[in-house]
Amino acid sequence: MDIQKRFSACWQSFLACFRKSEPSTDESNRVEKPVTVIENPRAKLSSEPDTSSATGRPLPRPPLRAEPDIYIALYDYSARTEQDLSFNTGDTLEALDKSAGDWWLAKALTGISASKRGYIPANYVAPVESIDAEPWYFPDTKRLDAEKMLLAEGNQQGAFLIRNCESQSGELSLSVLDNGKVKHYKLKVLDNSHYYVSKTRTFPTLKELVQYYSRQADGLCVRLGEPCRKMEAPQTYGLSYNTVDQWEIDRKSIKLLKKLGAGQFGEVFQGLWNDTTAVAVKTLKPGSMDAEDFLREAQIMKRLRHPKLIQLYAVCTMEEPIYIITELMKNGSLQEYLQKDKGATLKTSDQIEMAAQVASGMAFLELQNYIHRDLAARNVLVGENNICKVADFGLARVFMKENDNVYEAKEGAKFPVKWTAPEAIHDNKFTIKSDVWSFGILLYEIMTFGQMPYPTMTNFQVIQRLPQGYRMTCPSNCPKVLYDIMMDCWKENEQDRPTFETLQWKLEDFFDLDVSSYDDAARY
Ligand code: AMP
Repeated sequence: MDIQKRFSACWQSFLACFRKSEPSTDESNRVEKPVTVIENPRAKLSSEPDTSSATGRPLPRPPLRAEPDIYIALYDYSARTEQDLSFNTGDTLEALDKSAGDWWLAKALTGISASKRGYIPANYVAPVESIDAEPWYFPDTKRLDAEKMLLAEGNQQGAFLIRNCESQSGELSLSVLDNGKVKHYKLKVLDNSHYYVSKTRTFPTLKELVQYYSRQADGLCVRLGEPCRKMEAPQTYGLSYNTVDQWEIDRKSIKLLKKLGAGQFGEVFQGLWNDTTAVAVKTLKPGSMDAEDFLREAQIMKRLRHPKLIQLYAVCTMEEPIYIITELMKNGSLQEYLQKDKGATLKTSDQIEMAAQVASGMAFLELQNYIHRDLAARNVLVGENNICKVADFGLARVFMKENDNVYEAKEGAKFPVKWTAPEAIHDNKFTIKSDVWSFGILLYEIMTFGQMPYPTMTNFQVIQRLPQGYRMTCPSNCPKVLYDIMMDCWKENEQDRPTFETLQWKLEDFFDLDVSSYDDAARY
């Protein structure tokens, strides 16, 4: 070997020594890490020097590498397409790519899909070891809902949940089922971030607090038992990963199962998408609207996402009839729901709560500068546990519904007169404030269990008498404060009408808690 070759061989082995100590960037060399329970599972790079060496001197930096991003499933999910993963509550999943936002590429680490990869709805999981992953944490649950949920079938003595306190933001409440009644406790936080129910015992984490009171009541009305059973899983955003952006879907993927209702512009069916997912399908009579006009509106509608708005999932517009595919609501329209019940099960508190939900959905539209144009009980849909969602927002711009209550103001323009603000009828001036007028009428419908507004008057009489200051009287059994809200919505000058934001908090305030209605833990 000549001198040059020997020098080259030495140089290569010298370099190889260095390479061995460098972290490999070759993916094929990646070793799958076992599942570890980590404090903060959000992806983090270990760039901080570790000072835990015996000498206290920093150890060499570990290779830059993302921690696995581990999540716990909060609900069961059944795969809807071949690309997504089925999982059950409590399964662990590693998020591999979260860039799509609402649907993540993930790998199941446990459960029925263990070691498989696929898409998962991001709102069905929470970071492992985070408070959101705790089965007893129901953050956005209102006191009234907490009571309803704990009193629902399946919960035993001691069932409990922890929720955000409505009356004091930033504070938490513990709601517990005891002998068929729900008791509430304030969870206070000390300056050192410790939690307590009774000052005599504080806990660094909520989990420790729960563990402690699961072992003994120690002043609570009852020892904590099982976490409250979760209600329905939330809606996913879009039907699947694929339909989020590409939402014109193949109509062959839709099966129409059962007719739910019909209007002048078409029929509504319960349907099945991809043989897996229950949906509502609105089929539009050919010629009832311009497909391009509708598509433009639907683009906007699709972006309007809120728990109190019916989600538009997908459309089929390539041929007639046009299909509008939305989430399915078990109990149909609020109008029918109220008329069927007539007060048999619905109490005033339920009626106000339903109105508050509609106001909440509308407050979101208000914030988005979007106008509904046809707000009425017939366009609010009801799910389980009196959950209400506003439907058909914006559709009125594309077509106007016609039924018995429609007045033809101008040729081609049809208004549901009894719901429409005077300035919208006379000057075609539709604004969020004309929606507020309609909300007042909807409130009347709610409080009269779906009675026709202005029951003794024709549309023409209504149009004549409103400008003279005529307004409906307070329905029987309707609290005065609620009637005052209706009257505010029917102010002649639209600027004097409240915003939906105000309407929402006014209605929600009916449930605002008297702090003294909380139970004290003994030894306070
Ligand atoms: P529409 O043509 O929108 O007035 O709907 C007619 C009827 O179909 C309504 O009164 C409801 O009972 C029912 N319906 C409409 N959309 C849905 C939905 N998303 N889920 C369940 N039922 C619905």
